[in-house]
Amino acid sequence: MDENVINKIYIDGEFVTPHGTELFDLFNPATGKVIGQVQLADEADTGAAVAAAKRALPAWSATSKEERIDALRRLQAAVAARRNEIQESVLVEYGGPLRNSYLVDSAAGAFADMITTLESFDFTRHIGNATVEMAPVGVAGLISPWNSDAFFICDKLATALAAGCTAVIKPSEMSATQTQVVTQALHEAGLPKGVFNIVTGRGDVVGTAITRHPDVARISFTGSTAVGKVIFREAAETLKSLTLELGGKSPSIILDDADLEEAVTGALMAGFVNSGQACVAGTRILVPESRLDEVLAIATAKMADFPAGDPRDPVTAIGPMVSERQWERVQSYIRRGVEDGARIVAGGPGRPEGLADGYFVRPTLFADVTNDMTIAREEIFGPVLSILTYRDDDDAVEIANDTNYGLHAYLFSSDPARAHRMASRLEAGRVAINGGYEPLAPFGGFKQSGIGREYGTFGLEGFLEPRSVMG
Ligand code: NAD
Repeated sequence: MDENVINKIYIDGEFVTPHGTELFDLFNPATGKVIGQVQLADEADTGAAVAAAKRALPAWSATSKEERIDALRRLQAAVAARRNEIQESVLVEYGGPLRNSYLVDSAAGAFADMITTLESFDFTRHIGNATVEMAPVGVAGLISPWNSDAFFICDKLATALAAGCTAVIKPSEMSATQTQVVTQALHEAGLPKGVFNIVTGRGDVVGTAITRHPDVARISFTGSTAVGKVIFREAAETLKSLTLELGGKSPSIILDDADLEEAVTGALMAGFVNSGQACVAGTRILVPESRLDEVLAIATAKMADFPAGDPRDPVTAIGPMVSERQWERVQSYIRRGVEDGARIVAGGPGRPEGLADGYFVRPTLFADVTNDMTIAREEIFGPVLSILTYRDDDDAVEIANDTNYGLHAYLFSSDPARAHRMASRLEAGRVAINGGYEPLAPFGGFKQSGIGREYGTFGLEGFLEPRSVMG
């Protein structure tokens, strides 16, 4: 094969050439140059993958918890062994900066977290005189986005396998390089054939074929809200169970008692995570009116800690946008912010100085933003943050919740009791107080950020159907 053409998908334990013939260009977004192509799978490939997963289901669903833990351990070790290759593919394929390499480690980490979950999980419960068996739902369709594909593949697969499901994975067509490395690692773990299958193809071809397939019982999707709605409609025909992890417009609320240096750093980190290309990005920074000037002075100075640049440079915080289309989209939002009357306090339109090639944007901070402006309402998916002011705690909660989304929220305060009181009023699936994090806690969105939860026991239960046996 031409070394720059990825022309293998993974079905029934083997690397096979897709039946689909379309070639799709892969870019290095840091240079704007084509680095290769991927041969995309089609409906016939999807059918073969689902059939293989269906054949593997009876044996896999009958495995014991110990056998599944053993398999997850092998998968974890195999993915960890390819860590550097995953890192390289992330750098080349979407310009994910080296500084964010924890995202690379999260791929193997997903298996470790699911092992921890499984170790204390009880598949049998008792309610009155009933025995409730938590049974695997069946063949799972796992559909993932490009912005950390290695992690999404591993996380969804770990959960499906832990539940006793078999899987057909449809990674993003834009992350074929990551997918290739991860697939090789997963293959090396030596699981029974057909237990997982990986078909890279277009969303409206392979994604739709999975969503409509009568032998697929469940969809776990991470991606945009727009596509999530299409999948919800398509899956209705066969009444699939589903988890939809969608977009966000998350608030970072700085309370008036917060240490402002720490809070502003935390808010900028939450906003610029993964070059701003993150569903969980805290893109609306809510600041008490009385402390706006102080926050602006600190934030303007701290923007120097978040430089855009070569993702291989260890100081770079913000790499390129994934595609030219995404670059244009981010530019259009920056223009729109100015037109709507917001004030640029850092960054702005165009490219950062000295970065003429590739899809780099200037990390941008807007002030004088009101919550009705487009830049405060729509997911930009780039390093563009808005500072909004609020009068008091009630006003902060109202602004924070005044959005169609509800994926995440960030709170900064020196008063834990006050912060927890406010957290319980926020319409968000996760609230991080002063940078708090827990990988086994449920992850997912309120409102149009999605349906269902991933991670830990909540994620595992999504792949299980309770069967009550009585008498
Ligand atoms: P996307 O919705 O365009 O694509 C996601 C996946 O869905 C891809 O594999 C794509 O090929 C597939 N797809 C597209 N059309 C489809 C269809 N009709 N049927 C089935 N599958 C289809 O999203 P993207 O641009 O790859 O990723 C960015 C989006 O993902 C952002 O909106 C971001 O917020 C969201 N996201 C959410 C989370 C979360 O956990 N909530 C995490 C990361 C990204």
